[in-house]
Amino acid sequence: LLSFNLEEERLIEEIIKRKAKKILIQLPNGLKPSARFLHRKIEEKTNAVAYFSADPCYGGCDLAVEDARRLNVDLIAHYGHTPFPSNEDVQTVYFEARARYDVSAIVQKAKNLLLGFRKVGLVTTVQHLQDLESVKESLEKTGLKVIIPKAAGLTKYDGQVIGCDYSPLKSISEQVDSYLVIASTFHALGAALTVNKPVISVDPYSNEVKDVERLKRRTLRQRYAFILKARGSNLFGVIIGLKLAQYNPNLALTLRELIRKKGKHAILLCAREVTPEVLANFPEVEVFVNTACPRLAIDNPERFKKPILNPNETLVAMDEISWEDLTEKGLF
Ligand code: SF4
Repeated sequence: LLSFNLEEERLIEEIIKRKAKKILIQLPNGLKPSARFLHRKIEEKTNAVAYFSADPCYGGCDLAVEDARRLNVDLIAHYGHTPFPSNEDVQTVYFEARARYDVSAIVQKAKNLLLGFRKVGLVTTVQHLQDLESVKESLEKTGLKVIIPKAAGLTKYDGQVIGCDYSPLKSISEQVDSYLVIASTFHALGAALTVNKPVISVDPYSNEVKDVERLKRRTLRQRYAFILKARGSNLFGVIIGLKLAQYNPNLALTLRELIRKKGKHAILLCAREVTPEVLANFPEVEVFVNTACPRLAIDNPERFKKPILNPNETLVAMDEISWEDLTEKGLF
């Protein structure tokens, strides 16, 4: 069974130190079953009232500041992610939920797939960063040169990967001929679409090791088909995400303007959670353009009845940039 360090003692210390009377706890869905455990600890050791957010939380982009204000809490405890830049004034403490198991054994399974490469870029999610140096050492014993990229963009740590910012991987692309991503396939696919080099996925959750090239090609075929569909469509729904760091209304307005200039129609939609059910309520919209989480469009698009394009894909559909620009520069 996979287990993660919830740092419950630090949580208690933070509540006491900050004299918090009410606290909002945000857990990724996979950690929500730990709510009972954390609740018991808080009740045993403090007088604080703990609220557990039941909404999904997929990233540091989704700090629940508005919920915190409505509940009038003194503190947010956000689990599983590192901070996104924010000017919000709600006190927040982050808990990275580091894994309590070592990924080295599963990385051994990747060695065959790395045969033929000489220099590999190595990254993982915040949960497994503590294993990165030992994985590096063990890969270097096989003769590979391993490079761990420096933190950049939205990442906090060297070697960290998140789903919507692959700038650390891009920063070492001249120095490596491949990448090893220790994370779910979701992160490996994001990397493959951005870096244009072979990406090996080592997934500690499914215990699967694979080259994601086939998945990347399938995704690119889907993306291209959606762009073609958009070229022949008339009504677009431009989505503004209402989660804190996904909110980009100016980009949505710019894209709406561009779509209109091309003689088509666009309506603005806004939502916290963009799901197939939410979008199905707008049956006349032929294609959606998403300015919120860029992974929504890319991962499992079959879930949605209509195509969803990312902003740069919309630029391709509107003939502002070429498909080659998009794919060669990894602008997804
Ligand atoms: S924007 Fe999407 S990919 Fe980026 S952190 Fe948020 S949920 Fe993850």
